[in-house]
Amino acid sequence: MQNEQTLKNYEKYLDLITNEINKMFENQKEYICCSNGCSMCCEEGMYPFSEIEFEYIKQAYEKLPKDIKQKIKNNVKELTKFRGKGDFLYKCPFLIDKSCSVYSNRGLICRTFGLISENAAKKLTIPYCAEHGLNYSNVYDKETHQIYMDKVQELGYKNIPIAYNLSKYNLMYGIVKNLNFDWGESKLLIEWLTEYIENLDK
Ligand code: SF4
Ligand code: SF4
Repeated sequence: MQNEQTLKNYEKYLDLITNEINKMFENQKEYICCSNGCSMCCEEGMYPFSEIEFEYIKQAYEKLPKDIKQKIKNNVKELTKFRGKGDFLYKCPFLIDKSCSVYSNRGLICRTFGLISENAAKKLTIPYCAEHGLNYSNVYDKETHQIYMDKVQELGYKNIPIAYNLSKYNLMYGIVKNLNFDWGESKLLIEWLTEYIENLDK
């Protein structure tokens, strides 16, 4: 359980990191088409969350109307049927009617959905939705599964597609500096939620 001061520090950190992520989206806006009701990025994932992120999202959950809370609980219970069967991709239980029910308090990873990322070995991850005519699809080659740089030139875009280091570690410690606090344990969102809902039901 995180204390109040840690949560306050986390909120300060969130303002700063969100500002940096917004700059990335602004730079890449020629390739981005995220909009309300578009939710593919929340429909198939694992969603790693640190303890503090989960504490923060819980605050938003607690303020939700009863019926929405119940829908989230039902989603979690549905998913627990797969417990013990190894890692699997799942629809986020907070996604209700194609919209995030805890949007203002969503996790770090959620804030980066839609951008291209690269890992330490420089391997790129292009948003899955590029395959479905969404982000970066204007310059995405479905045959090679790569960004088609000739297309970027042909279309005369101002900014080239950029792959950002959006690893959890870089988001936590690399982009915003000098604001360190204890992130606590890290687990998948479904693990946090299962534990939380089971305790609520006791
Ligand atoms: S918390 Fe919200 S934004 Fe994050 S995966 Fe779930 S529904 Fe999507
Ligand atoms: S990342 Fe892709 S699926 Fe998610 S909101 Fe943006 S366009 Fe839609």
